[in-house]
Amino acid sequence: MFSPELVLSYPPSFCDLNIRNPKDHSYFGWRVDVPYDYGDKTVLQGGPLNHRYKLIQFHAHWGKNCSCGSEHVINNKHYSAELHFVHWNCEKFSSAREAAINKDGLAVVAVLLDAVDGENCAKLESLETICNMMTKIKYKGSPVRSIEKPLNILELLPENRSYYTYLGSLTTPPLWETVTWIVFENPVKCRQEQINAFRQLLYYPRNEIEGLEDKYEANVEENFRPVQPLNGRNVIYVKN
Ligand SMILES: [Zn+2]
Repeated sequence: MFSPELVLSYPPSFCDLNIRNPKDHSYFGWRVDVPYDYGDKTVLQGGPLNHRYKLIQFHAHWGKNCSCGSEHVINNKHYSAELHFVHWNCEKFSSAREAAINKDGLAVVAVLLDAVDGENCAKLESLETICNMMTKIKYKGSPVRSIEKPLNILELLPENRSYYTYLGSLTTPPLWETVTWIVFENPVKCRQEQINAFRQLLYYPRNEIEGLEDKYEANVEENFRPVQPLNGRNVIYVKN
């Protein structure tokens, strides 16, 4: 359908990435930042994109339990969580910040996570590495932590790269309409305990909540935006 085809290329291993529970109130959850020099080793281009894009960060959305949590729904099926790999247009713009507020600025690759009983699923090592960091960034705005093991991000992508694509917005404020979405059709299986680990994160900084966690139900139990109406948007399916 698109020529040239979509190309997504990441190095097999990312070392020393930082993870945070961001201080700002536009997003609640964890986020892994990809420094510019690492981003330079990533490529997202082709398919619906007219320019070259680079990875800048990735994060996740999840639900109160594993029957919901994804921000995209395929054939009415909700998934347990959704990973967002955020890329910026490095041909047209000089920074991710500039790209974020302009047309064609961002391209987000979405991966649906299907959490199953641990017995039935191999451990995704990279996801496990991220989960093991949750206790260290529990409080909102905690100091940024270096991820202890290298991450193989490719492990977090489905083997079959069929995808849906449409023009849309960020799913967290300020909801800029600057995103080309690329949503892989096939989910990646993970363990329920891994999604449970995300819910250890807290809505509040340490100085506000320490010792009061249970009293205030301070955990980020869910952080997904409900499915939005299409509003006439054209969704294109590309089979691989
Ligand atoms: Zn997101």
